[in-house]
Amino acid sequence: MPLTGIEIFKLLPKTNCGECDVPTCLAFAMKLASGKAELSACPHVTEESKEKLVEASAPPILPVTIGTGPEAPKIGGETVMFRHEKRFENPPALAILNSDTMDETEVSARLDRCQQLQYDRVGLTLKPELVALKADSGDARKFEALVTKTKDSGCRVVLMSDNPDILAAGLKACADQKPLLYAATEENLDKVANLARENSCPVAVKASSVEGLVSLTGKLTAAGIKNIVLDSGARTLRKTFEDQVIIRSAALVKKFRPLGFPTITFPCEMTDDPMKEALIASTLIAKYAGIIVLSDFQGESLFPLLVARMNIYTDPQRPLATAEGIYEINNPNENSPVLITSNFSLTYFIVSGEIETSKTSSWLLIKDTEGLSVMTAWAAGKFSADVIGPFVKKCGITDKIKHRKLIIPGYLAAESGGLEEELPGWEIMVGPREGAHIPAYLKSWTP
Ligand code: SF4
Repeated sequence: MPLTGIEIFKLLPKTNCGECDVPTCLAFAMKLASGKAELSACPHVTEESKEKLVEASAPPILPVTIGTGPEAPKIGGETVMFRHEKRFENPPALAILNSDTMDETEVSARLDRCQQLQYDRVGLTLKPELVALKADSGDARKFEALVTKTKDSGCRVVLMSDNPDILAAGLKACADQKPLLYAATEENLDKVANLARENSCPVAVKASSVEGLVSLTGKLTAAGIKNIVLDSGARTLRKTFEDQVIIRSAALVKKFRPLGFPTITFPCEMTDDPMKEALIASTLIAKYAGIIVLSDFQGESLFPLLVARMNIYTDPQRPLATAEGIYEINNPNENSPVLITSNFSLTYFIVSGEIETSKTSSWLLIKDTEGLSVMTAWAAGKFSADVIGPFVKKCGITDKIKHRKLIIPGYLAAESGGLEEELPGWEIMVGPREGAHIPAYLKSWTP
């Protein structure tokens, strides 16, 4: 578990020299404990303390990156059992399972789906991350060809075989991309561990139980391998769910390092029913998979999974927020309507989307409400007349328009009188309560 500020303080030089841009070692220790400073900012910490701090401050579930580049998915790194305690750190990567026994056309179609099934939502791009490549044919050349084709499509991969020679053949085609090797088992551990070490790749271990994983991860860590992913071998929802909870709580609550790694799960092997598979995957998004391998990607099941994942892995202490300011929609001019709303991202994207759909040129004012929605911000006093009035005066919208009309959200109707006092000379118009009614409302706009 992470060290407390006081525990960190005991390992610092305690000279209060201030070279870390913080006046005292204690203050620096507190910043370090809350993740707001880097240990490297103190030039005087001893090597011995540094080692202890790095070791002790490592998250109880180590993070593992699959692939290379800025978009390579990072899994693990979790520090809490429940999202409300702090937040979940790294969302599980979603993978599609492709086999070297599939024909070329099918593989191409599946790779195309990986690229095409991407969604923009509240300013984020939601998409799956991985392609799991399974060597079902037993033919190293066929497997290598599948890996090459997948690599050429730009997808990041998991190489799946119990045979180290076949894994090595796949690695020949993509070692530079640091794929996940699946899997080291009791039978092949040394050979797969060598492949992982020689190529600096993460490696998954597979056992037939959680207990079985413990000795395997012990051997791998003793061999200097730390990028490990766990497969407990469970292939039913109930057993997989139990194992995920046991692994997470052993690492976090019991501080049991041999299970302090992210997991890989296989809903694709638990059912033939695509709907059930999606439901199993959604359970594992919540608790606590690191990688979820699906038999296929289809928009109707993938999109809800991506949205569920986004919601669960959004920091509950930091609402998604849009920057305060004036947003131009459909090339507005001096006669265009001016609307105002809060900076909760979902509100912004719904309102701006509806204005775009209306094809009415408009100015949209976004007031910083600390990411709260209209009603919540209003109830908290962050979106009332005495806040909105000064913002409208200062934001610069008056230089861009000839008229003085402001459309406020329907839910703020009670503030219209107060706003007329705050903004003398302005006409305050009460817009619709629901975003979906904005296009119809704007049709009747006259400056
Ligand atoms: Fe203390 Fe190091 Fe900061 Fe100096 S630089 S105040 S020794 S933590």
